[in-house]
Parts: sequence; C-alpha cells; structure tokens
Amino acid sequence: VKFVYDFTEGNKDLKDLLGGKGANLAEMTNLGLPVPPGFTITTEACKVYLDSGEEPAALRDEVSAHLSALEDRMGKKLGQPDNPLLVSVRSGAKFSMPGMMDTVLNIGLSDKSVQGLAKQAGDERFAWDSYRRLIQMFGKTVLGVDGDLFEDALEAAKEAKQVAVDTELDAADLKKLVTKFKKIVKAEAGRDFPQDPREQMDLAIKAVFDSWNGDRAKLYRRQERIPHDLGTAVNVCSMVFGNLGPDSGTGVAFTRDPASGHQGVYGDYLQNAQGEDVVAGIRNTVPLAELEQIDKKSYDQLMQIMETLENHYKDLCDIEFTIERGQLWMLQTRVGKRTAGAAFRIATQLVDQGLIDEAEALQRVTGAQLAQLMFPRFDEQAKVEQVGRGIAASPGAAVGKAVFDSYTAVKWSRSGEKVILVRRETNPDDLDGMIAAEGILTSRGGKTSHAAVVARGMGKTCVCGAEELEVDTKRRRMTVPGGHVVEEGDLISIDGSSGKVYLGEVPVVPSPVVEYFEGRMHAGADDADELVEAVHRIMAFADRKRRLRVRANADNAEDALRARRFGAQGIGLCRTEHMFLGDRRELVERLILADTQDEREESLKELLPLQKQDFVELFEAMDGLPVTIRLLDPPLHEFLPDITELSVRVALAESRQEPHENELRLLQAVHRLHEQNPMLGLRGVRLGLVIPGLFTMQVRAIAEAAAERKAAKGDPRAEIMIPLVGTVQELEIVREEADQVIAEVEAATGTRLKLAIGTMIELPRAALTAGQIAEAAEFFSFGTNDLTQTVWGFSRDDVEASFFTAYLEKGIFGVSPFETIDKDGVGSLVQAAAKAGRATRPDLKLGVCGEHGGDPESVHFFHEVGLDYVSCSPFRIPVARLEAGRAAS
Ligand code: PEP
Ligand code: MG
Repeated sequence: VKFVYDFTEGNKDLKDLLGGKGANLAEMTNLGLPVPPGFTITTEACKVYLDSGEEPAALRDEVSAHLSALEDRMGKKLGQPDNPLLVSVRSGAKFSMPGMMDTVLNIGLSDKSVQGLAKQAGDERFAWDSYRRLIQMFGKTVLGVDGDLFEDALEAAKEAKQVAVDTELDAADLKKLVTKFKKIVKAEAGRDFPQDPREQMDLAIKAVFDSWNGDRAKLYRRQERIPHDLGTAVNVCSMVFGNLGPDSGTGVAFTRDPASGHQGVYGDYLQNAQGEDVVAGIRNTVPLAELEQIDKKSYDQLMQIMETLENHYKDLCDIEFTIERGQLWMLQTRVGKRTAGAAFRIATQLVDQGLIDEAEALQRVTGAQLAQLMFPRFDEQAKVEQVGRGIAASPGAAVGKAVFDSYTAVKWSRSGEKVILVRRETNPDDLDGMIAAEGILTSRGGKTSHAAVVARGMGKTCVCGAEELEVDTKRRRMTVPGGHVVEEGDLISIDGSSGKVYLGEVPVVPSPVVEYFEGRMHAGADDADELVEAVHRIMAFADRKRRLRVRANADNAEDALRARRFGAQGIGLCRTEHMFLGDRRELVERLILADTQDEREESLKELLPLQKQDFVELFEAMDGLPVTIRLLDPPLHEFLPDITELSVRVALAESRQEPHENELRLLQAVHRLHEQNPMLGLRGVRLGLVIPGLFTMQVRAIAEAAAERKAAKGDPRAEIMIPLVGTVQELEIVREEADQVIAEVEAATGTRLKLAIGTMIELPRAALTAGQIAEAAEFFSFGTNDLTQTVWGFSRDDVEASFFTAYLEKGIFGVSPFETIDKDGVGSLVQAAAKAGRATRPDLKLGVCGEHGGDPESVHFFHEVGLDYVSCSPFRIPVARLEAGRAAS
C-alpha cells in the first residue's frame, strides 16, 4: 500500500483515503489553481498507527521521498538555515470537524533558520513572530503544554511594553518571548523544543494522528454521528504567509451566502495576518468586498476562482485563502456547510442554473434540515426589549437563562433548565456547553468564528459578534448598552435568523414552512417567502421520485386532517386505546369488572355507539384514503386506577366505616390484573382472546361506521389490524370472529364493506413465522417499537433513562435503536419477514408504524427492503416524504 500522495496525485473522490481537506487540495491542484505544493499522508496510515501504536514501517521512507521531491520543487530544504522551507502539518478527516483536531504551522523554524527566514523575507519581526507561533503551537498540541502559559507570557510581554496588540511587539520583544517560550517548553514538557526540522515534522504528524482520539474530537463525532474508526489524514503543505505586511493577508470566502443562498461576495478578510487569526475570531475582519480596494488583482483572481469552483463542484464552496505579498494562494476548499433554509434555496437555485437535476437537488437537502425549518420563530408582533444585535450565524429562536460558562450550561440543562450560553467567543473546549444550550451568543467573532461554524453544524441557534454586549465571564454577567446588567440565570432570547438579542422571554410563532404545509401560506402567492417556494419545489421533486407511500399515526379527526394537509396518504396506525379514556373510563372499568356475560355485554353495548362515532369522524376526515385501525392493545390495568391510590382509598373508607364495596371490587381487579411485566403480559391479541366480545365490539363499530359513511356517499377504506400476534393461530381465531361480525353488518345494512384484516408484526416470533402468518393476514404493519423492545430485550419505557447514556458513551450504538432502526438486528428480521410474507401472499401490503417510520435513516432502510409505506406522527410526514424521495433518487 501507498501511504503518501502528492497533491498532484489525488482527487476529490478520494476523501476516505485523503480526508476532505487533502482530497480537495488535490482537486484544486489538478484544476490548475494556485495551491502551495505539498502531500497528504493517508487515513490508512493513521489507522495502522491507532491500531498498533506505531506508524507503518514504510511511512518514514515514503515521507522522506515526498519531502525531498517537495524540496526540489521549492528549491530549498526543510529548515535549511539560510533559506528554510517551512511547512504546515494539518489534520484532515473525511468529514470536516471544525477546530476539533490539531494543526501546527511554521515547521522548519529553529534558532538557526529563523535568521535565514528573517533575511529571506527581509523582515526580522516577521521571522521571530513566526518562530514564536511555532513554539507555542508545537508546545501546546504536540508536547501537551498548557496553552495558557504561552498566552500569559504573551500578555505579560504586551503589558511590559504597554501595548494592546501583538503587532506592536517588535523583533527584539519577540526574540525575548521565544526564549521565554522555550523555557516554558523545557519546564513543562521536560525536553527542549526540537531544533531538528524533521523531528518537528514527524512529531507533529504523530500528534495529528493522536488528536483523532482526543476528547473534543470524540465528543464531536458522537454528536455528529461520525464513525470513530475512520482516522484522519495529515496534510503537509508548504507555508505561505499572510502576515508579511499590508500587501499580505488571509481570509475565508463563500461562493454564496451560507445563510440565505444568495449569490454575491461573502466572506471575511484580515490584512497582515495568518489563517488561524480569522477562524479564531480574535481580531476583527473586514467584509471580503473590501479586498477589492485593498488588492484588486488578487480580488479579481479570487472571484474567478470562486466561479471555477462553484461550476466544478456544482455547489456552494467555502474557501480559505492567503495573499502573500500580492500573490493569491488557495489553502482549502470544500463544499460548504449551510443553514437548513439555504440548503433548500441553493438546491433549487442550482436546478434553475442547470447545474444539477431534480434527483441531485434531493441529495442536497435532508429531512433533518426540513425538521429544523419547521421549528417556531419569534413573534414579530410581540413587544420586545432589544438590547443588541450581532451576526445571524445560525437560525432559530432560542429562549433561556443566560449562563456564562460551559460547565454551568451542562449542569443547568441536566436539571431541566433551558439555557443560552453567553461567551465572549467560544473555543473547542466549549463544545459540551454548546450542545447543552438552546442557543449560543457571543460578543466577538464573525460568521466564520468557531461559535458560528460549530453551531451551524449542530443546527443550533447562534448569534455571534454582538459587540455592544460586554460579556464578563469571570463575574458571570453581561452589560448591555444603557448599563443594564444581565446576571447569570436571567432570561434572554436570541434570534439566529436576524442576529437580534432581547431581554426576557419573547413569544414564538410557527415557522412559515409549517404555515405552508398547513395551507395557510401558498407557494406562488405574492407574499410567499423564498424559502416556502424552495420547500414547495423540493417536496414536489420528492413526491415525484418516491416509491414509499407515507401515512400518519393518528387517532382523532383533528390529527387526521392535519396529517392530510401535510401530505399523508392514509392512516397507518389508529390506536384505539385513546378512545377508552376520559369519561369512558367508567364504562371500561365496568367491562373489566364484569362477573357475568350479561354484565359484560351491557358495557360493551354502551361502548359500541361511542366507538362507532369515533370511526365515522375518522373515515370522514380521511375519506378516500386507507385508515388502519388497531384493536385494543395495552394491558387492561392501564385503564384502572393506580394500585396505591386505590389501596389508600379503600383503607380510608374502611377506617371510617363508609361503604366501599365498589372500591374493594376494583382493588381486587387491580390485584388480579397486576403483572410483573405488563408489556409481556395480557395485552394485544391476548386481550381479544381472553375477554369475550371486546374485539368483536370494536370490529362491529368499524363495520357499522364504514356502512354509515357509505350510505352517506362517502368512501371509507378501513383496515382492521390485530396487535401483538405471535402465531397464526391467534390471528385465525380473531379473524374468524371478525369475518362473521362483518358479514352480519353487511347483511343488516345491505352494503359490501371490503374490510381488509391484517396484523402487526412486532414480536420476534411473528417475524420468524411471517410466512405462516401471511396466510391469515392481508397486510403486515411492522411495529418496530415493540419489535425493538423484544428483539433487544430492552424495556422501551425505561432504558432511555437508565443505561442508554452509558451505551451511547461507550459507542455500543451511535444512536438509540428506538430512534433509528437497528438494521443488523431488528432490520434484518423486518427484511426476512417481508420476504417470507410476500412469498406466501404476493400482494401482501407492507408498512411500518413504529416511531422509526418518521426517522430519516430508517425511512431509507424501509425503502431498500421494499415496504409499501411508512407511517409516522403528523408533524414528521413532510420529513418522511422528503426522505422517501431522497431514498429513491
Ligand atoms: C409498535 O410497537 O411499534 C407500535 C407502533 O405500537 P405501539 O407503539 O402502540 O406499541
Ligand atoms: Mg406495539
């Protein structure tokens, strides 16, 4: 195997091997763009190192060969005393992990070569500043020295000289600082700062490998669901300098606005600075447009390159560049992160530009982004007290208590508080707090600062660079213009779409996307916003492409109507248990307590018209579309009073010698029905088999409701679903009774009802014997909630609160199997059952109605295994439609 690739050897499709940064540097090199020469060490080399603790044997020689080729090309040697070649060593994983991993710049500088650099650049201050940066970065990231020690020394040097910024330190000051930094290294790391340039490089490469398993990187991967075994590539790139004077500088640029998608000049530029200064958000940048005045030639060239890149990648790209004495260099590009709204807009814009087709447009957006756009926003009519305005870095409306450090953010959010993390600027150490917070507010930094980039990636509301806010993290407070002080715990509201900051809690209103789905805002209307237009078009693309149908889990007419507006093509699960609660509870109690057949029939007779009316309403709401009604599922004791409460009542009545015959009977029933494992007990089809008349009453209600709708010229399409079946015999018995009742209703009303009868597949045995079960079922609906519970042996009601956190932290799974289908286990049972069922009955209809029906990743899986539909809660329907379209294109 080959472990090192020159930039000329790779291309953008080699991200697995070269990482995102390396693959794109290669791509740009091959496009003829000005990229400083260099090479990439592959993720394979990293994996060998991480697995074995040692670099692969061949790596050293390969690096040597590529280094000497680079030296030949540049006409100078790494760290050569009179004219040193300097390189940067940067991490670059397959997926971008902003600020998560390590970078060392200026490798090759030493006590000797710093003199050579000074002479060569004609700038002594620059050379010593570069050397001091190297020792600082190397000390911190490679040798593990506490970075604050260097920062403190730098502060002390500025104080001693009574200057405010580092640029005011001269060569002599920086020389002294280098001596001080070297002392810090010696004292803290127990070794001298290495003077051998190759040793510097090798140690830096190893440090990048190691940073893959740093705490920050691991946390970020878990959050972003990036696999832990990918490893990182390492890019070794010849240095170019943006800090060589006013004709130098560094910046970041987007080929279009990552917040709105609009084309134009977006980015930040920092004159006379090195790249890290911009991303760190430490010094204030100028808008990229101003580069036109500063350096027209480079500006024009950059615009040209941006166009080339957009046409080449056919997408929004973000770019890091440096200008060294009037010469433009490209340091990085990648398909850029963007807000959810911009993703939809950009996808449709690119279709209109003829750069991509509809199928590709669907790949440019995600269900998660759509879900994000369905979040509410602040009410524009509300009376608000605006106290600041920063940069709208990541959209959304967040309200919470102000906290000024990550630790508090995490602590408070654990105890259920909503918090806004307020910082002067964030750095990678703030990641925990950012995850815990509702939103992030900073007083410094631009659209490309750490806070902004990370928040956008997490889909979290963020306002950054709100400069008029004086954030005092030490005293845990911030002062707003006018002098009002916001203390820790005070409520604030931030609007990531406008950048506005408000005191107190601002009320929120629904998103325009929801208004659109609800039919209260129309695409094509004069006042429809651009986002709604884009969503409308993308949904149409998805609906044209998808093969999966999308149904709703709904059990009342109101939810059914909403689901229909959101695009539901039927109801996949109507849970009838909700119809047994409220004021009907008493009837149900009587049913459960009945001692005789007569008593039981009496209460069933009273329940029948109520049930029937529920169904009439539902069929009317869903006229013309299938409605799958599931017969009663939960354990009966759920309909009875709480055992402790009831015991107290009985005891009280007894002591007061009051009559309590009913309570006593009830208590006896509660005791009788009490189960250690109710979810594995008397529920589902077992109820139907044990309580005579219960299921037949429900079937009769369905049949009579359907007949009534037909008589009213409606088009009811009921399907009757039996829960928790484990064997075909259960189904056969219930079915026989149901068929008889249906026939009776048909005869009595003179209508043909065509009621399909099917079953849930939610027990392993049902899945394993699906071929037999299909003999008695016209459809299957996979109940992946119970199926996950029973396949894993996890209690669905308890695990999330008990040991799942530990499981997630240990990486046993990346996400709860109750959220995303466990493809290997539960999923393979679904797949096998679908196949066996269809072998028995080729026209068997297959759907899923567990929570997974609305989960993006799971929808793709259900598409692949060939189900006919997914069913999910009404609000997830647009997401499921979109993902079904994406899965099919
Ligand atoms: C299921 O088990 O997946 C299901 C849909 O049924 P319930 O959640 O009501 O048990
Ligand atoms: Mg179930």
